[in-house]
Amino acid sequence: MNVVGSLNAVQRAADLGRLDGGSFDVLVIGGGITGTGVALDAASRGLRTALIERRDLANGTSRWSSKLIHGGLRYLRHLEVAVAWESARERQILMSTTAPHLVRALPFVAPLNDTLPPLGGVLTEVGVRAGDVLRLASGTRRAQLPGPRRVSAVEARQLIPGLRRDRLRGGVLFWDGQLEDDARLVVAVARTAAASGAAIVTHCTALSVSDGSVQACDELTGTTFEVQARTVVNAAGVWADTVDPRVRLRPSKGSHLVLDAAALGDPRAAVIVPVEGESARWVGATPTGDGRLIVGVTDDDYAGTIVDEPAVTAAEETFLLGTLSRALLRPLSSADVIGRYAGFRPLLDTGPRSTADISRRHAIIESADGRMLTVVGGKLTTYRRMAQDTVDRIVDRHGGGRSRTSSLPLVGAARGVPATVSTVPARLLRRFGSEAPLVAALADGDPALLEPLFSGTAVLGVELLFGVHHEGAMDVDDLLDRRVRLGLVPAERRRADACAAQLLASSVT
Ligand SMILES: Cc1cc2nc3c(=O)[nH]c(=O)nc-3n(C[C@H](O)[C@H](O)[C@H](O)COP(=O)(O)OP(=O)(O)OC[C@H]3O[C@@H](n4cnc5c(N)ncnc54)[C@H](O)[C@@H]3O)c2cc1C
Repeated sequence: MNVVGSLNAVQRAADLGRLDGGSFDVLVIGGGITGTGVALDAASRGLRTALIERRDLANGTSRWSSKLIHGGLRYLRHLEVAVAWESARERQILMSTTAPHLVRALPFVAPLNDTLPPLGGVLTEVGVRAGDVLRLASGTRRAQLPGPRRVSAVEARQLIPGLRRDRLRGGVLFWDGQLEDDARLVVAVARTAAASGAAIVTHCTALSVSDGSVQACDELTGTTFEVQARTVVNAAGVWADTVDPRVRLRPSKGSHLVLDAAALGDPRAAVIVPVEGESARWVGATPTGDGRLIVGVTDDDYAGTIVDEPAVTAAEETFLLGTLSRALLRPLSSADVIGRYAGFRPLLDTGPRSTADISRRHAIIESADGRMLTVVGGKLTTYRRMAQDTVDRIVDRHGGGRSRTSSLPLVGAARGVPATVSTVPARLLRRFGSEAPLVAALADGDPALLEPLFSGTAVLGVELLFGVHHEGAMDVDDLLDRRVRLGLVPAERRRADACAAQLLASSVT
C-alpha cells in the first residue's frame, strides 16, 4: 500500500538516524501546528529540514482548540483589520486547496432575544456583514460559505431546537469554517512535510540550544545526542520560554466542555450567546460530525504551572453552562457534560491589558546571532502564513526559494473521487479525505475492523491501524488521545484502552 508521508516506528528509527550527529538547514522544535507548518514550508522549498517533538504530534495547545477555521470576525470587533484579512485569506486556502477534506462550512446563529437586545442584534449583523466582505475579497465563493442573513424565530428554532421560545425575535445567521479535528490537521501537515523530505521525530525533547547546536533526548530510550542546524526554529508554543528564556509569554487559559448534541435537540447550526455585560465575548456550542457539541470558550489570564493536560475548573464550567443556558429552553447542568478540555494560548507579553485583548497576530523573535527564530502567537487558521513568514526570514539570510505551501495540498486533500468511494464509511471520508479508501483497505477482509470499536462510538478499528502504520502513533495515548480523539470523553476512552494496547502490541510496521 502506497501511503504518502507515512510515519511509523520504522520511519522514526530512520529519521532518528538522520538526526543523530546530522546537520540540517532548519531544525524545528515542537510538533504542534506552528512547528509542523514551518517544517512543511521549509522542506517543500528544498531546505534540509528536521522536526523534534518531546511527546507526540499535537501534544500541546493545537489539540485543545475550538476547532474553527475562522475568517476573522473576532478581530474585526477589535478593529484588527489586517489580522482579520489574513484569517480570511488563510481560511480560503484551507477550504479550497490545502485541506478541503478537513474544513467545512458551519452555520452559526446568534439568537435575538433578551440576551441580544435590538441594538446588539444590529451591531452583530453589521459585524457579520463586514466579515462577509472579507470572504468576498479573499475569493471564497458563496457556494463554499453562504452569506449572512436574518432568520425568523421559526427558522432559528428549526436550526437549534433547544432555543428558548419566549421573546425570541429571530436570529442572525452567518457561516464560518469548522475543522473536523485540530489534531488531524497537525498530523496531515507533519506527514506532508515528511513527504517533502523532512525528518519528523516524536518523543524526542530539545534539552538545550546553543549556536545552532541542539542537545536532544530520545524519550523512548533515554539516549541523548546532538544535532547541528544553520537555523533552529523554536515552535514550542506555550513552552517557548523554556527553549529560549528571553521570550516573554503571557499565557491565557481557554476551557471547553463536550456535550451530547441531544442536549440542544441535535442542532444543525452552532449557537452563540453574548457573555453578560461584555460587548465582544461570546460562548458558543458547535455541533461536531459525530453527534457532540463543543461548548466554549473561556479566555482568562493564567499564571500557574503550564501542563500538557490542564483541568477545567468548576468556575469555568459554571460560566460556560450559565452563559449558554441564557438562550436555552432547558438550562444545562454538569450532568450534561461528558467531557472537558482546556489549553493555553501562547500569547506574547505586551503589557498589562487583559489577555482577551492581546492581539492574536503571530510574532517572530530573532536571537542576537540570528541562529534561532522563535515563532509564537497566531492560531491554527493562520499556521501556513506563520510558517511562510518564518521561513522567508531564513531564506532572506541564507538564500532559497519561495514558499509553495499555498498551492500544496496536504495528504488526503487530493481531488477526484476514487472509484471505491461508495463502499467506504462516511466517517472515513470525513476524516481522511482521499486517503479513506486506503484506511478502509486495512480491514483486509476482516469486516469487524470497519465496525465501531464498541457500541456508542463512531471510531472504527481501521482508524487505529492507520494511526500506528501511517500516522506516527507510538503508544496508546498517541492513538486514543491524538489520532481518534476518544480521550475527549473519558468514559469512552476507558472502553478502548485494552483494544488499543492489544493492537499496538500486535502491529508490525
Ligand atoms: C482554548 C483555545 C481555543 C482555540 N481555538 C482556536 C480555533 O478555534 N481556531 C484557531 O485557528 N486557533 C485557535 N486557538 C489557537 C491555536 O490553537 C494555537 O494558536 C495553536 O494551536 C498554537 O500551536 P503551537 O504549535 O504554536 O503550540 P502547541 O500546539 O502547544 O505546540 C508546541 C509543541 O512543542 C512541544 N515542545 C515543547 N517543548 C519542547 C521541547 N523542549 N522539545 C520538543 N518539543 C517541545 C510541545 O509538546 C507541543 O507539542 C485556540 C487556542 C486555545 C488555547
